[in-house]
Amino acid sequence: MPAQIIDGKAIAETVRNQVAAETQRLIRDTGIVPHLAAVLVGNDPASEVYVRNKERACQKAGLRSTLHRLSTATTQADLLELIAALNHDMSVHGILVQLPLPKHLDSTQILDAILPTKDVDAFHPENTGLMLQGRPRFVPCTPAGVMKMLEVSKVPTAGRHAVVIGRSDIVGKPMAALLVQKGIDATVTICHSRTADIGAVCRTADILIAAVGIPEFVKGDMLKPGAVVIDVGINRVNERLVGDVDFVAACAVASAITPVPGGVGPMTIAMLLLNTLKSARMMHRLS
Ligand code: NAP
Repeated sequence: MPAQIIDGKAIAETVRNQVAAETQRLIRDTGIVPHLAAVLVGNDPASEVYVRNKERACQKAGLRSTLHRLSTATTQADLLELIAALNHDMSVHGILVQLPLPKHLDSTQILDAILPTKDVDAFHPENTGLMLQGRPRFVPCTPAGVMKMLEVSKVPTAGRHAVVIGRSDIVGKPMAALLVQKGIDATVTICHSRTADIGAVCRTADILIAAVGIPEFVKGDMLKPGAVVIDVGINRVNERLVGDVDFVAACAVASAITPVPGGVGPMTIAMLLLNTLKSARMMHRLS
């Protein structure tokens, strides 16, 4: 039987509708409008699309969004100054710096400068630490989106072997950290470019999460029959979006799979809205 498709677009819409309803209630009861400030440096075409999609999603859900566009010539000091201003601006609840930044800028220093209570991307070490300890303030949007998909799709995780391919700070590491938390209880393996016989490791996965950045890296023969496959990858191949999993081959082996596009991507944006709403509530000490 071909794999069931985990419809990220539909799940994300449910989350966005929930955010919209709660935002409307917040505005009605308190006058507070959750506000996301996005910072875009330079004109990388993919980043332009991501930022536009995030802005559009905010507007649709009733959140305020402000885009700060800076030229490629922006210096580290200019960007730090803008972050400081946004940190102090009481009307701003979430700050997002679109990555990648131009090469002459130090992303780590920039991300560390964001006030942890406005760090809705959850990249600040304080938020990473809280998440690792199982008491998250914000959860990074992409791994949070994957967890939501597993939950809605009723994928059992306790005692199951989850294999995460990729160890980035944005996807792979937090993904593994969430899967191993008490209550989720997966047994987790992280693979990376130095993993030996990655195919053999992947074939032991009940849940396989691919965040590699290589088009169709995961082949059908790397999957255990019946595995649940979550494809985080977004790769552009000849103007087409392709995941990190060979979708056609995987469909014949897996029990469930996320498509690209229409899988993890829309979930990431939905979780960003959720984090911004949460930040607004926390800043005003609402439950
Ligand atoms: P990244 O920082 O480039 O990390 C890629 C990871 O894959 C690294 O840990 C790397 O290992 C590992 N890797 C590379 N080649 C490998 C190989 N041959 N075998 C095994 N592991 C290998 O990428 P990322 O930011 O995590 O993103 C991963 C993918 O997800 C990309 O396609 C990106 O576009 C996509 N993405 C999607 C969303 C979304 O919303 N859907 C959000 C973020 C990212 P080393 O550490 O050893 O180099």
